[in-house]
Amino acid sequence: MKTIAVLGSTGSIGTQTLEVAGANGDLKIAALAAGRNVKLLERQIREFSPRVVAVWEEEAARELKTAISDLDVKIVTGMDGLIEISTLPEVEVLVTAIVGMIGIRPTVEAIKAGKDIALANKETLVTAGHIIMPLAKKHGVKILPVDSEHSAIFQSLNGEQHGQIDKLLITASGGPFRGRKRADLEQVKVEDALKHPNWAMGQKITIDSATLVNKGLEVMEAKWLFQVDLDQIEVVVQPQSVIHSMVQFVDGAVIAQLGTPDMKLPIQYALYYPDRRYLAGERLDFAKLRQITFEKPDMETFLGLPLALKASREGGSMPTVFNAANERAVSKFLHREIGFTDIYQIIIESMEQHKSIQQPTIEEILDTEKATYEFIESRW
Ligand code: NDP
Repeated sequence: MKTIAVLGSTGSIGTQTLEVAGANGDLKIAALAAGRNVKLLERQIREFSPRVVAVWEEEAARELKTAISDLDVKIVTGMDGLIEISTLPEVEVLVTAIVGMIGIRPTVEAIKAGKDIALANKETLVTAGHIIMPLAKKHGVKILPVDSEHSAIFQSLNGEQHGQIDKLLITASGGPFRGRKRADLEQVKVEDALKHPNWAMGQKITIDSATLVNKGLEVMEAKWLFQVDLDQIEVVVQPQSVIHSMVQFVDGAVIAQLGTPDMKLPIQYALYYPDRRYLAGERLDFAKLRQITFEKPDMETFLGLPLALKASREGGSMPTVFNAANERAVSKFLHREIGFTDIYQIIIESMEQHKSIQQPTIEEILDTEKATYEFIESRW
């Protein structure tokens, strides 16, 4: 029986993680953390009986306390609460399915406490990869990718030697606006951007897929996770989302992982690695599929990817600015305060005004995030 804790249990990845746990029956859920969805959290507590639960705000904690007054569950709050559940002695694997840079500190503390990390929260590696990866090495813990593309690469690298990687080929669906041009994007509505062609995900990441910012974040994440140069990563548009990513080796061989788009596969693979378990669901039907097509990403229209590459090349605190600016811009777009292409403009202006700090500490990363938010509020 493996014991896990889930940060962000009420979200898209969090709920699917609990579905995987429920279907397998041999994962002990020691702790859960959520933001403010007390109703769902209560149902999860009744089903999985965690010992400790974290919610972000005191008010949500009070509400939860009343809702589960018949149960013996410790309720903790804020960052201290997240860190407490990330470092519980019995936890072996921490699933980081929280959204945003708030995931950095709990992940760092969990690594220091020797927990393996099933990492969905890509912001952690994008902004603090230079801290997380050496720390994981030092403490001998595994960073197990949950993102489907990174899981595909991880699976394709099984039994292979790192020195023999030629390049990583990260696939992209191209999002709901694939094929459109810059002028078409000006009129895009929130509802249109939330319609991902293949994957059902949280709102923020769905918008990130439409702007290709998500692909940019994935490239940065892959650079840290697989310790390769940026030039060794290529993005390939594969609209059917059947090939989840590939690795090309020095002899020209390409190994890929394919499957129907189902996040439960990478989640389960991370939780049971290196074992594979039965997973119910649709299987690929190649006769029905008939073809898999490929395209180059349109870097002129979808600026999320080239801007991410620029931020990553500059390094230091620039990826934090890219990420924070995007986070704030997406929130404004979802609240209908700005248009779709303004997301790019906010990222561009935020990056232009920032002087990058090399090898930033966690405090400097969080200060950079705050300064970026302040800059955006003063301008938009
Ligand atoms: P969601 O928006 O669906 O869920 C976010 C979760 O984080 C919710 O449980 C939310 O709680 C919780 N949360 C937010 N703020 C806090 C806080 N301050 N304290 C505690 N919990 C908090 O996001 P996703 O599941 O889509 O994404 C999670 C992460 O995984 C992101 O980094 C994303 O990039 C990554 N990812 C997601 C994929 C997907 O398919 N969805 C695929 C690959 C990666 P509440 O709702 O209760 O407020």
